[in-house]
Amino acid sequence: MTSASQVPARDSAAVDVLNRVFGYPSFRGQQHEIIEHVAGGGDALVLMPTGGGKSLCYQIPALVRPGTGVVVSPLIALMQDQVDALRTLGVRANFLNSAQDYDERRLVEAEFVNGDLDLLYVAPEGLGVAATQRLLDRGKISLFAIDEAHCVSQWGHDFRPDYLGLSMLHERWPDVPRIALTATATSATRDEIATRLQLTDARHFTASFDRPNIQYRIVPKNEPRKQLLELLRTEHPGDSGIVYCLSRASVERTAEFLQQNGVNALPYHAGLDNRVRAANQSRFLREDGLVMVATIAFGMGIDKPDVRFVAHLDLPKSVEGYYQETGRAGRDGQPSTAWLAYGLQDVVQQRKMIDSSDGDLAHRRNAGRHLDAMLALCETVTCRRSQLLNYFGQVPAGENCGNCDTCLVPPESWDGTVPAQKLLSTVLRLQRERGQKFGAGQSIDILLGKETDKIQRFRHHELSVFGIGKELRDAEWRGVVRKLLAEGLLAVEGEYSTLVLTDASADVLRGRTKVMMRREAPAKVKAPRQRAAAAPAADLSPADASTFERLRTWRASVAKEQGMPAYVIFHDATLRAIAALNPKTLGELGTVSGVGQGKLTKFGQQVLDTLHDGPSSGPSVPAPSPGVSSRFGDSDHIFDEEPPDVDYDHEPPPPDYE
Ligand code: ADP
Ligand code: ZN
Repeated sequence: MTSASQVPARDSAAVDVLNRVFGYPSFRGQQHEIIEHVAGGGDALVLMPTGGGKSLCYQIPALVRPGTGVVVSPLIALMQDQVDALRTLGVRANFLNSAQDYDERRLVEAEFVNGDLDLLYVAPEGLGVAATQRLLDRGKISLFAIDEAHCVSQWGHDFRPDYLGLSMLHERWPDVPRIALTATATSATRDEIATRLQLTDARHFTASFDRPNIQYRIVPKNEPRKQLLELLRTEHPGDSGIVYCLSRASVERTAEFLQQNGVNALPYHAGLDNRVRAANQSRFLREDGLVMVATIAFGMGIDKPDVRFVAHLDLPKSVEGYYQETGRAGRDGQPSTAWLAYGLQDVVQQRKMIDSSDGDLAHRRNAGRHLDAMLALCETVTCRRSQLLNYFGQVPAGENCGNCDTCLVPPESWDGTVPAQKLLSTVLRLQRERGQKFGAGQSIDILLGKETDKIQRFRHHELSVFGIGKELRDAEWRGVVRKLLAEGLLAVEGEYSTLVLTDASADVLRGRTKVMMRREAPAKVKAPRQRAAAAPAADLSPADASTFERLRTWRASVAKEQGMPAYVIFHDATLRAIAALNPKTLGELGTVSGVGQGKLTKFGQQVLDTLHDGPSSGPSVPAPSPGVSSRFGDSDHIFDEEPPDVDYDHEPPPPDYE
């Protein structure tokens, strides 16, 4: 056979596996190219956003090539689910990790040595062990896949020291192709991965990082929990989602608040007992419509496809983090929301955290730059998506994406130079005339001419700037402070977050720098609905929608019985397509995208029975209880006196990993 004729042969093998095993009609983006490259024995470094379809890039080559594909994954807690999902497709998969007992391990080892496995998942630390290496020598390895490859980056918060040892794979098994995959978009991290894993000669595949189905929205923070509840009730009733908070205490409070208001919410942070955390994660994956309130300790490797929203109640520390976290929404390609509430307190708090961190100057500068980029995204009056893609060095498709808040409701901008000057003068006068420094709250009270005790006590009503700022409301003044802080035209200092001028302040005071402000949305400007309705069955006729609900009820019972996440059985999108097609035979059912041979054999008849048995009295999404609790969370006040007490989750919790 000539080499030319081998290409189509391999080609059709990959396509065949895609159709037959996974039940998908065609490849997405660069999948085909990557799969052919690796199936042909090449090394690859793949950068693809979450939901881009990375898994197929190593699963299909592993099925096409002789031997077992060894997948290095840091997520012990999720291995069982990954393996279950593959087995449901009829793929022979298993895993080895330290959570297994001796007998379990022996069984898996025997499967591998006998050539009975298509895919074997292992923890990175396992590969460092001599016994595991000897075991791998006894079987045939088709490829190494290094998932979550950014864990090798010492700068990222997902760093796993054991990843550093993975360059050993290349030395010990030089003929086995390797594919490293990550959703991290920055070129610095990509280069670091390539160097550390000795993949500089590998072919690099960088997909577009755009996630067109995610609607990006950033709103001013007033009463964050109340705003969140409003979002959930009006746009995402009964949907699965993640709410990120910075501190453990605020995770607890927010989860409780949501529960009290009829939302099915669970907390997750590194301070919770291991078992509680694992149980909550498992429930989130398995049940429909749960809201996980979490610190950033939650999320890596969570491949639940139908997360409909990711909400941030606090400002993320970097655009990288923000993009990774919001990327967990809508892996199934369906419309989803990324929503962030952002206020003055966030800026003050984060600046302070950086100033008081133990890191050296370089570290603090780096953190400061990351924060600045995040603030620029929040304050922008142009398309958020364009700004995000530009940040990652990618070219946006156009100036306006049509699916972010600034594109949907273009913000008015106004010239805030005069108010900015008034504020800066207040700070200047306090310091020059009184030798005092105060926080934003007192400065704003002075501008508004408020007769508070504190004003009296410090005789601030005698200042010439007292009451010169009555043209703006308190919230608008906070917007001015936020903007000045975001642009480095003002700074906060010390334990009490007092305001101080920066070198750049002088240019504003002298009128050399203009300050353009984003108009604070009046209380009610809602972004237009991104889709007909929040319910997943929205695009179906009423009859098909009821069929879809019946299928979901059936799926829930199977998932429960088998102890698997519902989406492992069929995705919502697949159930919706089945409801719309209403197939009468297994053959017809098999034409639906997402129904491969394995699932057809396992579940086909049950699906047909469910379709043609008529409606059952399946449960529907519980309606949120009416009436809003009278006590809402903290408003965005700046405290002059006391810094908020917080306990941040800087790192992912070790117990999730080995
Ligand atoms: P990633 O690991 O890049 O975040 P996944 O591999 O989990 O993404 O894929 C995201 C979703 O897209 C999965 O539910 C997967 O089944 C689906 N998917 C991947 N490739 C295809 C394809 N070619 N056609 C249809 N669906 C696909
Ligand atoms: Zn846009």
